[in-house]
Amino acid sequence: MSQLLTIGKVAVLAGVSRDTIRYYERRGLLPKALRTPAGYRLYADSIVHRLDVIRNAQKFGFSLGEIAGFLRVRESGGKPCGDASGPFSRAFRLPPEPPPGGYHPRMRAVRLPAPGETLRDEKVAPPVPSEGEVLVEIHAAGICHTDAHYRKDPGRARLPLTPGHEIAGVVVEKAPGVESPVAGDRVALHYLVGCGTCRHCRAGAERFCSRVEMIGKDRDGGWAEMIAVPAENAVPVPAGVSFQEAAIMMCSSATALHALRLAQIRPGESVLISGFGGLGVSAVQLAGVVGAGAVIVADVVPGKLAAARDFGAHPLDASKPDFADALRAATAGRGADIALDFAGTPASRTAALRALAPGGRLVIVALDARPFSFDPYRDVLAGERRIIGCSDHTRADLDELIRLAAAGRIDLSRAITRTVPLEAAAIAAVLDDLEAGTSHLRSVVLPFS
Ligand SMILES: [Zn+2]
Ligand SMILES: [Zn+2]
Repeated sequence: MSQLLTIGKVAVLAGVSRDTIRYYERRGLLPKALRTPAGYRLYADSIVHRLDVIRNAQKFGFSLGEIAGFLRVRESGGKPCGDASGPFSRAFRLPPEPPPGGYHPRMRAVRLPAPGETLRDEKVAPPVPSEGEVLVEIHAAGICHTDAHYRKDPGRARLPLTPGHEIAGVVVEKAPGVESPVAGDRVALHYLVGCGTCRHCRAGAERFCSRVEMIGKDRDGGWAEMIAVPAENAVPVPAGVSFQEAAIMMCSSATALHALRLAQIRPGESVLISGFGGLGVSAVQLAGVVGAGAVIVADVVPGKLAAARDFGAHPLDASKPDFADALRAATAGRGADIALDFAGTPASRTAALRALAPGGRLVIVALDARPFSFDPYRDVLAGERRIIGCSDHTRADLDELIRLAAAGRIDLSRAITRTVPLEAAAIAAVLDDLEAGTSHLRSVVLPFS
């Protein structure tokens, strides 16, 4: 029987080969709490009562599940450790011995197999980081409206595919050519992988790179246990920011920040936020950070309007016939200086443009290709209003967001209203909800919960 046992501050790894220990060390998988100045103490045949193991493990502040995820336990010498029904044996039932150079022989992933098929639970070979890449164990992965689009219209994604582009976790291995991050670092992942050499990539605008790939669309994403990504896509996440928050920052929050930057918002300006989901929640908080004046949220789902009020915004029901009048009233008769269109309907875009004050800016963010109509003279020229496109975000936006979160200036914890396990049925139910229109704000997959 191999066991991880702890006695006081000494870790005892009984029956685990030195190669296995080295393997786990290399990947940063041994719990930090067990590291001693002298390194690990190995005793081949220590016998410690299993209750002591559990007690000591808890004293060190990590759960049995965490230990179970890292170390493997085997029967040996004909003596079972723990009864089959007890918590110890359940907690320590682990995957088979990793093959040389591999971690889990197969890892769990939720995948879109082929056009017309539904999400499926699969066991796949874990990714192997190539030069310049890091291997990340995924601790949180957001479920985004964009994923619902890919499920419905996979023509835009490369199947078969592991979706999920809002990812945070821990680096477990770095391939040659990588200085940082290193094993054990907490990171979130920028989902755009550019060629790195074209003029757009060199200018930090990889979203315009002709060879850009999106994680979770053009390459496998985060609804899995592990992912390999270029090291430069890993954004450091400080200890005070949770994996869940860091994950959702990688998409909607970053794009909301990018939209406000494109609008060149100035302190005191009013902001109309059209559509209150992940983008809207982030935009409300970010508008506050930059010192916006009135922040108005337009939506048609009553639960979302109530949530917008909770976040400190002025809610307006966009389906009401007096919407335009109510908006004018909320901006002292002027109209909004900035409108962020996250709703993406032709009607919401026209309404937002017409709701702008002279000099106002409409930023189009939602993915919707339908034309919308406006009067070039009355709606744009006469008031010198501008219509601005916002596509994704930049790595610089992500760094700025993490800085704001670490400083406590934005708090996205309340934006996460649901967590689900790494299971196809659970994720599919969230996508169904997103398509139907839900009062949930953001949902996050927790692969190891
Ligand atoms: Zn997203
Ligand atoms: Zn490029």
